[in-house]
Amino acid sequence: MFCYQCEQTKGGTGCTTQGVCGKDPTTATLQDLLIYATEGIAQYAHRARKLGATDRDVNLFTVEALFSTITNVNFDPERLQGLLCRAADLKARAQKIYLDACRKQGVQPETLSGPANWTPAPDIDGLLAQGKKIGIIHRHEQFGDEKADLMDLILFGLKGAAAYADHAAILGKEDDRLYARFHELLDYLTRDRFDTQELLNNALAVGELNLGVTELLDRANTSAYGDPVPTRVRVTPVRGKAICVSGHDLRDLAALLEQTKDKNINIYTHGEMLPAHGYPKLKAYKHLVGNYGSAWQNQQKEFPLFPGAILMTTNCIQRPQESYKDRIFTSGLVAWPGVRHVTRDDFSPVIEAALAQPGFVTEGVEHYITVGFGRNTLLSKVDEITELIQSQRLRHIFLIGGCDGAKPGRNYYTQFAQLVPDDCLILTLACGKYRFNKLEFGTIENLPRLWDVGQCNDSYSAIQFIVALSKALGVNPNELPLSLILSWYEQKAVAVLLTLLYLGIKNIRLGPSLPAFLTPGIVQILVDKFNFTPISTPAEDLKAILD
Ligand code: SF4
Ligand code: SF4
Repeated sequence: MFCYQCEQTKGGTGCTTQGVCGKDPTTATLQDLLIYATEGIAQYAHRARKLGATDRDVNLFTVEALFSTITNVNFDPERLQGLLCRAADLKARAQKIYLDACRKQGVQPETLSGPANWTPAPDIDGLLAQGKKIGIIHRHEQFGDEKADLMDLILFGLKGAAAYADHAAILGKEDDRLYARFHELLDYLTRDRFDTQELLNNALAVGELNLGVTELLDRANTSAYGDPVPTRVRVTPVRGKAICVSGHDLRDLAALLEQTKDKNINIYTHGEMLPAHGYPKLKAYKHLVGNYGSAWQNQQKEFPLFPGAILMTTNCIQRPQESYKDRIFTSGLVAWPGVRHVTRDDFSPVIEAALAQPGFVTEGVEHYITVGFGRNTLLSKVDEITELIQSQRLRHIFLIGGCDGAKPGRNYYTQFAQLVPDDCLILTLACGKYRFNKLEFGTIENLPRLWDVGQCNDSYSAIQFIVALSKALGVNPNELPLSLILSWYEQKAVAVLLTLLYLGIKNIRLGPSLPAFLTPGIVQILVDKFNFTPISTPAEDLKAILD
């Protein structure tokens, strides 16, 4: 196996024998093959669409397949084998749609090569043999490091955007123009020759696609559950039976809240589910009592202490420990061998597991944090912030956010937030916020100094705020008194980063380390064009920004 798609990759270069995340070589190889099969689907779907033919199942499967290969989502070879069977069926369907469209339009069909011609081997050994012939190492041998790295930058960004597109589709929001871009860019990756500048342009095109996808997801979330409003969230236990819901899928949380409303069970959010408390239609459930624990990488320490059932709705799952393996469940695209998988239609196994556990027997000391600074709330504050900046009562805004992770060095973000002077505002989003979201930051004038914008996809809200603020101040976004201090871990962060670069946002500081899939040459291009900077120390970076 070879995988270098996330920040914790072994030795900062690549996992070769076993993933640091727990992914084994079989899973890694099947994931590589699933990407290859999906590229084959895209070859037909892209051409069929140009002739006016599309298919919803093909579109949906494309984003589900990409999402399934994101870090910490699917560790189950059996489930992946099932996805490969579906991939073969849907490739055949996409091919037929293309050939039918050609016939209808009187067009000579193209003879396609590469993944379009893949047919699945009949058994797992055969699939593994196929998977070993493709993948990252093969790309590097065929195209050289720089081009292969750029191809991976595009692919990893597409994976991240696919996760957001899948969440939007789950809530009934789809847009064929976005699916068209997924297929076009996946088809592009099947070429046999590449130009570096074109690869860079297409990496930025992934950023543009992701902007559209996060806008769609914002519409999906807010039309289903209302616009988030600032909301106090309890972060200590409430006595009683308990279920902890992690991941990003608001629809799963909503279904669980509905199915538990008369069961005398308290529901806690965990990790990236925290922003759910700000949505009016979710916070209306009184048994959504609070938030438990912190970011994903602490689950093996925190879940053994949770006296109830646990539901993982999306990434990021880690190897479940024996102490809670019988009371943790997966849903959606998440899978771990031996862990019970449930669907939102029937969460009764989760409910029964919670009722069989003691729950919290004592009440914790009350402690609250505030979430809910979503798009509408941010935009409603633009005039006030503009006035504070113009009257020099607000010196600078820091967006400190992104993914949290397990590797050392991430206390940079805690220290940075603590060093931010009192006359500055901190915006945060994604699970990196857990590095400092329970600290006290006080207020600036009448506003809290820490604004929790939401999940990583709510980078869309932050972007809308930046655009509105720059308009109000009559400057371009790069001239605002605003700095982005980002942490990355997995491929959604890659998609968000590409969106910011597509928008021309400069001076981004990224850590805790740079992606292993960016060659020094590509990093130099990003430095030259975007003044993109790796983090150094909190004090040095803060001084460089504010001086
Ligand atoms: S996802 Fe990350 S940790 Fe897992 S195998 Fe890939 S690079 Fe390694
Ligand atoms: S922001 Fe990234 S690392 Fe954090 S929980 Fe979401 S997907 Fe995982």
